[in-house]
Amino acid sequence: MTDTADETDIIDGHAVAADIIDGNAVAADVRGAVAGHVETLEAAGVTPGLATVLMSDDPASETYVSMKQRDCEEVGIEGIHVEIDADAPASELYETIDDLNERDDVHGVLVQLPLPDHVDKRSVIRRIAPEKDVDGFHPENVGRLVAGDARFKPCTPHGVQKLLAAYDVETEGADAVVVGRSDIVGKPMANLLIQKGPLGNATTTVCHSRTEDLAGKLADADIVVAAVGIPEFIDGSMLKAGATVIDVGINRVDADTEKGYELVGDVEYDSAREVAGAITPVPGGVGPMTRAMLLYNTVKAAGIQHDVEIDLD
Ligand code: NDP
Repeated sequence: MTDTADETDIIDGHAVAADIIDGNAVAADVRGAVAGHVETLEAAGVTPGLATVLMSDDPASETYVSMKQRDCEEVGIEGIHVEIDADAPASELYETIDDLNERDDVHGVLVQLPLPDHVDKRSVIRRIAPEKDVDGFHPENVGRLVAGDARFKPCTPHGVQKLLAAYDVETEGADAVVVGRSDIVGKPMANLLIQKGPLGNATTTVCHSRTEDLAGKLADADIVVAAVGIPEFIDGSMLKAGATVIDVGINRVDADTEKGYELVGDVEYDSAREVAGAITPVPGGVGPMTRAMLLYNTVKAAGIQHDVEIDLD
């Protein structure tokens, strides 16, 4: 699907030959396919619509939401955006979700997280109609994923799965270690890797803050997915030679740049690159895939709701 950027190089006297997994390129392929599905839906009289709801003053959340809206525009998905005052009562958010659940022109509903402290995240997620839950966080969709009958796979782990497929990384029989057990990344990632079938069949270990001997687990891993949220937590010395390393982490660290910071992953890229067989950079690895898979889930939702067959792989 995508050409491998083979970065054979010499660093400090060591030959490095890790394939750099290009998330921007794979995401562009996904967006291209989604634009085709939008045309199919349009031909059937359906304009797919994604509603984003922001109840936060956090600048990062504002940026994420505006990027999602821009992504929609690029592929022909109608973006609907609702902002709710961060101090408003939770009932206002519930009413907004109820309204969006009812609207025929809205096929996906995404409530940007995190929410203010006075709003119960679980209740909000349960309020979204499962057939419009394009984040894949509703218990019905989580259950379907675990049962091997996924409707909407959560965007980040689904994006990781697409990257592994695009680079022909064999999951069947592989020893995979997922570091992190969050509901949005670690748990669904592990669930995808253990599913019986293509892109699954990995023997999967899930590690977290109470794991003993993380280093020992990583040393045997053919595939490492790092979703910890600690800058450069895993370094090359902890990896098996030739391992595929997927770095989900996005961490801001102080740096002498215009913005005063730079983004780094949960993996120390330079040392990991010397050991890994393939590795995702940060930025430009998993991040663009997360955004692309939201568009994918939105056209899928529109197809399901209007009974239009679209050829999603
Ligand atoms: P969470 O904070 O929800 O989860 C972090 C996980 O890491 C927890 O399970 C925690 O364990 C585990 N952990 C913490 N410390 C250790 C340790 N010392 N050893 C082993 N495990 C540890 O984070 P998220 O899953 O939401 O996100 C993880 C990272 O991915 C963040 O950097 C985030 O910004 C990024 N991210 C990137 C996305 C993308 O599109 N690229 C999308 C979503 C997130 P425990 O459960 O025991 O606390």
